[in-house]
Amino acid sequence: MIRRDIFRSFWGLLLGSIVPGYGKEKKHMGSVRESLNSDHVDVLVVGGGTAGTISAIQSALAGATTQLLELESRLGGTMTTGGVCFPGLFHAWGQQIISGIGWDLVKKTVELHGGTFPDFNTPYPDEHHWHHQIVVNAPLYTMLAEEACMEAGVALRYHEFPLSIEENRQGWKVEIAGPGTHRKIQCRQIIDCTGGADIAGLIGMRRLRDDDTQPGSILFKIGGDFHWGRDRLQQLYVFGADSSSSTTRTKAIVDGRQKVLEELRKRRAQPGNEHMQLVHLRPETAVRESYRIVGEYQVNKKDMLSGRLFEDAVCFSFYPIDLHTNQGVNPLQLSEGTVPTIPLRALIPKGRRNFMVAGRSVSSDRLANSSLRVQASCMAMGQAAGAVAALAAKSKTTPLNIPIKDIRSLLSEFGAIVPEKA
Ligand SMILES: Cc1cc2nc3c(=O)[nH]c(=O)nc-3n(C[C@H](O)[C@H](O)[C@H](O)COP(=O)(O)OP(=O)(O)OC[C@H]3O[C@@H](n4cnc5c(N)ncnc54)[C@H](O)[C@@H]3O)c2cc1C
Repeated sequence: MIRRDIFRSFWGLLLGSIVPGYGKEKKHMGSVRESLNSDHVDVLVVGGGTAGTISAIQSALAGATTQLLELESRLGGTMTTGGVCFPGLFHAWGQQIISGIGWDLVKKTVELHGGTFPDFNTPYPDEHHWHHQIVVNAPLYTMLAEEACMEAGVALRYHEFPLSIEENRQGWKVEIAGPGTHRKIQCRQIIDCTGGADIAGLIGMRRLRDDDTQPGSILFKIGGDFHWGRDRLQQLYVFGADSSSSTTRTKAIVDGRQKVLEELRKRRAQPGNEHMQLVHLRPETAVRESYRIVGEYQVNKKDMLSGRLFEDAVCFSFYPIDLHTNQGVNPLQLSEGTVPTIPLRALIPKGRRNFMVAGRSVSSDRLANSSLRVQASCMAMGQAAGAVAALAAKSKTTPLNIPIKDIRSLLSEFGAIVPEKA
């Protein structure tokens, strides 16, 4: 469970304004109302997707004033906007390897929905790793994530994004825009959780992307019913889906919807299907691959296949190498007992200070990325980045200067499983 006892609740904050001295003993700085409109925060998280939501909650729970900017109108990113509402993998070889804030939210979503978990103790049959993914009610996840942000003291701002960013002695000056909004804030640390290293790109940091990228998918349901938290959506590949600009995003969205339209017409034209309906469609095409940073360390395929335990590992990650091409996908399973780890250095752009990336755009080669980009791993990386940014902001230093033992100790306090050499 998220440690409600050690941070101010949203209602506590409200009470704080009414009852003098309420919550005064708390050291934490996280204050929804203070940081919502404040022009100074400790940590700015950009992108409230799979990784960013967890990053922001962890940062605020660790005592840093935290703002979270999200371009869209919901938390969860690919899981909710894209409809890939089957996060995985939190377990490997009969043991839980990822827990903490992301796991707590997923668990709470399943419980409130009245859903079920897979049997993690029974190995998935053959190569069907998706048997250990958890089907969640995506809108419910969003609401619970919003609630967790409020309780932690995260200042959430929908429909906002950074317009320009300047580095200075205290960290970063960020110009932010949104409908009817144009403001500037000063922050000590930035965590880029945009899923495409968009903010690293805006600042001019070096990024990588192959010419050939994996197809995106549009998620929908034609025919029958659709029940959140129970059914998986149908998917169609959208080749060339690119999330790197509004121009390419528009194309990916329209191409995806046109494919669904075509599919609907095709199915209804079949005898007996004249009454078949489109019963669900996600608002955006989900994009599998975009830019990745060039980090202090680049995780590679060999690291994943060998289950390398890094000295500065901040979390585990478990999934096959899973590259989608125009021929489909042919996952390469990890050998029995193998559980790779993610080093802190993969979250930090080479030679840069006060800036981290979490989620699928961490520093990794293409094949390693096709494994570590999955949602449980993104959540674990997000929690790690949030913890490091809060520690760095508190001690007015840069993430690479934070001792790994302090990071692990903070993460463990908030329920994360941290890899350590025996
Ligand atoms: C079709 C498909 C199938 C998949 N299947 C699985 C699966 O079965 N199981 C699994 O676990 N994983 C799966 N994945 C992988 C996984 O869902 C993603 O890799 C992961 O969710 C990425 O998380 P993220 O936090 O890096 O990015 P996202 O979850 O995409 O979040 C990025 C967020 O940043 C926001 N944003 C972007 N730019 C800005 C900006 N400039 N300012 C403010 N906000 C911004 C976006 O709106 C979004 O909310 C799949 C992915 C796809 C596309």
